Amino acid sequence: MILAYGLSEVNQFKGMMIEDEAYQHLQRLAVDIGSRTIGSPGNLAAAQYIQSSFESHQLSVEQQEFLCPDWAELETSLELSGELMEASANTFSPSCELAAATVPVGTLAELEQASISGRIPVFYGSLAQSEIAAKGAIYVSERDRRIVQLLEERHPSGLITVNPTLHGRWRLVEDFDLDLPSVTVSARSGLELLKRPGESVHMKIITRRLASKSANVIARLAGDSPEKIVLCAHYDTKVDTPGAYDNAAGVAALLTLVSCLAGPGHPPYRHTLEWVAFSGEEIYGLGDMEYARRTGNGFDRIVAAINFDGIGPLVASNSIATFAASIPFTEMVARLASGYPGVAQVNPWPASDHYIFYSNKAPSIAMSSVGIRDIYHTPEDTIDWISPARLGEAVSLALDIVRALDEKDLAWCRPT
Ligand SMILES: [Zn+2]
Repeated sequence: MILAYGLSEVNQFKGMMIEDEAYQHLQRLAVDIGSRTIGSPGNLAAAQYIQSSFESHQLSVEQQEFLCPDWAELETSLELSGELMEASANTFSPSCELAAATVPVGTLAELEQASISGRIPVFYGSLAQSEIAAKGAIYVSERDRRIVQLLEERHPSGLITVNPTLHGRWRLVEDFDLDLPSVTVSARSGLELLKRPGESVHMKIITRRLASKSANVIARLAGDSPEKIVLCAHYDTKVDTPGAYDNAAGVAALLTLVSCLAGPGHPPYRHTLEWVAFSGEEIYGLGDMEYARRTGNGFDRIVAAINFDGIGPLVASNSIATFAASIPFTEMVARLASGYPGVAQVNPWPASDHYIFYSNKAPSIAMSSVGIRDIYHTPEDTIDWISPARLGEAVSLALDIVRALDEKDLAWCRPT
């Protein structure tokens, strides 16, 4: 059948198959399954789907389990003198029903001095620019560590965080070790609370918080050497988001790369190939920590890791960056990427699953995208933003890189 086509048509045909397969995985994860927060039924269903997909290519699969809660918000209300504020329970918040006076706090210096015992601090300004890292998380700044320490030592009744965006629905605390009821309010409700500091609010939160577990799902294809090339993407999401761009699209690329590299009649590889679907990237980096614990000094045998997180939106350019690599490695990646003029070569950016590799000295590549900035972690992160052609572009570039790296020795990839 294929013999009837010319070479360029064959490449086009292969491209179509890559796009179709990637889009099918994307639909399964972001539409049929939807939100995949660690420990939730959606998270477990996604792990099962990924495992089956790996097994359909006769790969050996390992699940690296870790414990975490299954949490869901059932009801949240926050009233200021009978007026209802726009509030969402922060992820993992315990249930509560209480009334207490508010104390607006904008900076860490103010928090150090504020008397918050038995009251409800309202974090705004510099204390509410982004999520406050849980103390058990993989990357925790000294500042976030101190904030959590003060909250634990001073026993406030609850916590209110003010959303720093007008339309986003970020939850600024997600810490299942912190036994403090908390909500994030809209910027507009934050304004009302700050106009009337010290007034009492009534906070009611009903959540489900059950013991559960989650797992990284890992497939391997043994090569001639135990030195390995790792391909990875996280499949978990924040709550309330179908996580199409962050990061069903990355997982779709990961699973499509299994078909491309381990499908029928694949060539023998020098290096072992490992596909890692991480869970818990969005919460503490739990899966990354579990992977690191089990890998131990095995990072010394990783030729390179390629991470996919946030690829594929139509109103964006796919992007690529390299970390902890030799100059020839970085130049080779840049040369291969230049074959894809739609891909932006960007400066290294720290967060996501590539961190665990480059921080352990394994050369790493991050594939993502630059475009509309605030879709991720929101209910708006839906499949209609994603372009099959951009998914295909990311997969094709990754294939070029894996094939080129398979010819390289580990020492060539690492800086001297
Ligand atoms: Zn992500």
